[in-house]
Amino acid sequence: MSSRYRCDACGNLTRFNVTVTRRTAEFHHFSVGGDLEVEDQELLSEKIETVQCRWCGAEAAELTAESAL
Ligand SMILES: [Zn+2]
Repeated sequence: MSSRYRCDACGNLTRFNVTVTRRTAEFHHFSVGGDLEVEDQELLSEKIETVQCRWCGAEAAELTAESAL
């Protein structure tokens, strides 16, 4: 389940620049010819660094179930 965001400055709910740090474990499957195919990617941790409004550039706030009402 992913978070939703809202820009309090302009009311934008749909366009954001999100910077995320993800730590993943992957199974790298190489073909005989050396082509890589990444399989079984497992998300170990995920940290949202910044969420910035695409329209006005302000820092956006995470939209909780409470504030969505
Ligand atoms: Zn905005």
